[in-house]
Amino acid sequence: MGLGVNMSRIVYVNGEYVSEESAVISVFDRGFLMADAVYEVTSVLDGKLLEFDGHLKRLKRSLSELDMQEPDAINDLLEIHRTLVRDNQVDQGGVYLQVTRGVADRDFIYPENVKSTLVMFTQSKDILGSKLVEKGMKVISIDDLRWGRRDIKTVQLLYPSMGKMMAKSAKCDDAWMVEDGYVTEGTSNNAYIIKNGKIITRAKSFAILHGITRTSVLRFAKEAQMELEERNFSISEAIDADEAFITSASSFVTPVINIDGQNISDGSPGPMTQRLREIYLDESIKTAI
Ligand code: PMP
Repeated sequence: MGLGVNMSRIVYVNGEYVSEESAVISVFDRGFLMADAVYEVTSVLDGKLLEFDGHLKRLKRSLSELDMQEPDAINDLLEIHRTLVRDNQVDQGGVYLQVTRGVADRDFIYPENVKSTLVMFTQSKDILGSKLVEKGMKVISIDDLRWGRRDIKTVQLLYPSMGKMMAKSAKCDDAWMVEDGYVTEGTSNNAYIIKNGKIITRAKSFAILHGITRTSVLRFAKEAQMELEERNFSISEAIDADEAFITSASSFVTPVINIDGQNISDGSPGPMTQRLREIYLDESIKTAI
């Protein structure tokens, strides 16, 4: 189906492969009523899944942090991902996976003995060819008004969505969120700066999502003898940096060249960022399954 969006997809809902038009979940699903749900997005290049093990491990951690039951199909997830990619002829794009606590009458107390809901679908998208790789991203800074357990990958994405809309209104590409004077992360990515050859990014904590791409990029950077420092940085330090970039499963490593209207260096993508992107793509394609 190429990259078209008009063809009907086959999606997965609780053990069944069905057409997207006939896929349904209950109005009493807690994912719908309470955002009581977690998700993962695994990128696809050349019809292969990137970083599958990392995504599965983080999914299990998110479920466990929320005392949410693993779905019955937990051991079949690789096979389901592959079936969806194959049957929907996804060459490039991603597989979205969501687990909710399941269906129960509306109540703040978690229901007992309820099976979790598992929904998965594919999105065909040109994820390699983003214009932002050459142009670099412009970001705005906004207050981080999200809840306090951002390490759990929940579907509570309204504030990140508002952040992207604020960026869009400002004719920018994304927003970096700031808490207590320091950047936490982008609306859907981790944030980095480079100063005097050193890569600086916030350390893992409850304040940020522990990006799968982040873990790999930091490992590859270390292997390439690049200097790293995991610590907080402010917007003014970022504007003063030599380079800046973001990482995520679907954007890999993408340069940031302007923050709040101020250029970083000369306002063009930096060489270390470009090198990190190449290394990340080479290495992650090698382990794609
Ligand atoms: N932070 C946030 C808030 C995100 O939504 C994402 C994307 N899921 C990331 C960071 C990057 O994580 P990953 O590299 O696992 O895609």
